[in-house]
Amino acid sequence: RKNEMYMSFLADSVNESLARITVAAFAMELNPTMEEIEDIRTSVSEAVTNAIIHGYEEKEGMVEIHCVLLDRLLHIEIKDNGKGIPDVEKAKQPFYTTKPECERSGMGFAFMEAFMDSVKVESELHIGTRITMEK
Ligand code: ATP
Ligand code: MG
Repeated sequence: RKNEMYMSFLADSVNESLARITVAAFAMELNPTMEEIEDIRTSVSEAVTNAIIHGYEEKEGMVEIHCVLLDRLLHIEIKDNGKGIPDVEKAKQPFYTTKPECERSGMGFAFMEAFMDSVKVESELHIGTRITMEK
């Protein structure tokens, strides 16, 4: 069994719920538990929020999501063409944030890693960031 979908939307925080709901609906075919669906919703939310507030820093741009479902595996990619991450290893550390003034806690990547089975972060300065997660 295979299914696949793409979506792209303006990097505006009003679209966070759209992204979260759409990916959760796409995953429903797997008959996920409430806990699994919550893990997916939270992880998508964190990655999309990061693209909007860090990647584009509230400037205009598009966020792209690509989901593939293959048998029991859900693959999610979330991509921005924003400023990129200078040091990915550092950014992934719990409590590391470059926006402490915005009441960010630096836990986005830690949540994604806790809630998904795998998380890959690829980023290039001034090119953008791609988060690949599987569950
Ligand atoms: P929180 O997610 O708890 O609100 P946070 O967003 O700062 O806080 P993380 O989500 O763990 O924490 O991200 C850590 C840091 O990585 C961010 O502060 C930011 O500097 C950088 N970062 C994350 N995603 C992106 C992105 N898409 N583009 C550019 N920088 C990013
Ligand atoms: Mg974050």
